[in-house]
Amino acid sequence: MEAPEINFEEAFSPQELELRRNEPLSEWTTFRIGGPARFFLIPRTSSAFARLQFFLLEHQLLSRTFLLGGGSNLLVSDHGLPIVVHPSLDSELSLIPFADFLDAWIPSSVRVPAIARRISEMGYTGFEFLTTIPGEMGGAIVQNAGCYGQEIRDTIVEIAVISKGRLSLLSSADADFSYRSSIFKHDPDLWIAGARFRLLPGDPARIASRIDENREKRISSQPRNRRSAGSVFKNPDGHSAWSLIDSVGLRGTSQGGAQISPEHANFIVNTGNASADDVFALLDLVRRTVKERTGITLEREVVLAGPFPEIQ
Ligand SMILES: Cc1cc2nc3c(=O)[nH]c(=O)nc-3n(C[C@H](O)[C@H](O)[C@H](O)COP(=O)(O)OP(=O)(O)OC[C@H]3O[C@@H](n4cnc5c(N)ncnc54)[C@H](O)[C@@H]3O)c2cc1C
Repeated sequence: MEAPEINFEEAFSPQELELRRNEPLSEWTTFRIGGPARFFLIPRTSSAFARLQFFLLEHQLLSRTFLLGGGSNLLVSDHGLPIVVHPSLDSELSLIPFADFLDAWIPSSVRVPAIARRISEMGYTGFEFLTTIPGEMGGAIVQNAGCYGQEIRDTIVEIAVISKGRLSLLSSADADFSYRSSIFKHDPDLWIAGARFRLLPGDPARIASRIDENREKRISSQPRNRRSAGSVFKNPDGHSAWSLIDSVGLRGTSQGGAQISPEHANFIVNTGNASADDVFALLDLVRRTVKERTGITLEREVVLAGPFPEIQ
């Protein structure tokens, strides 16, 4: 995809913004799939992140920009993307223990399993489930990431959001969280810089055993050490997506280098050399077959970035 020549170096110092050209996005996604980013931009402070959005807006490039987190819920086109922004704001992390709670300001770029483990080991409860969810905090908020009955919205107080180049705070209620969704999911021009969480003290032994239980559940039900993006479809009301896919006989089906996981039918795995088109073809096959045989429409959970035919 074409992107015009833009002189980012003139507008931003190297301390504020790192610029890479033709960065292979396959190295930034858990599928290990995706063509190059013509411009790959790494803002290093929240204010540079906000100013970058303003700059892109002014140059009418915001609609051609993709915001990348940990790349664990993404299928990026083999053709690549014109402009990718990947914030790196970890130095803004702040954990302040009060008498009866922990106030945690977590920048969007912080790795979720690592911060969840750190906070759990400090003796606070509420993040145990996040120790098993890959990706970064911004992506987790967008998706309202969750598992085993817990979701990220449960502990969020407020979110720092960049809109039209301005940074402001949004309450958790205004983020309109629901199952694997939030307002951010429907508006790619809302960028999350970070969020404040309130975590309560818990029993350290109980916290540790919850983390172990979650890990065990995952090991027993999901493909291990495979290149995937987690569950590719949401669970429709009253059903689980994996059992619907299983019931129509698609478990284990392959297309090129992509396969519907034999271990978990709602995972698609890259068995080595899958293209984005291979994965897309399986997504399309699953949706069509489940609709034809059961009448149920599966909604995609994995995000598509780049030019793909629309299957919704
Ligand atoms: C093995 C495996 C297991 C998984 N298990 C689970 C699970 O149990 N539960 C679950 O909920 N998910 C699960 N996932 C999916 C994924 O890990 C989560 O959805 C994760 O929270 C996505 O975060 P990310 O940083 O990787 O986001 P990305 O994949 O980088 O991006 C996802 C979306 O968020 C947007 N985005 C990213 N950062 C920002 C930001 N700062 N501001 C605004 N928008 C942003 C992107 O533009 C994109 O639209 C799993 C994935 C894998 C690979």
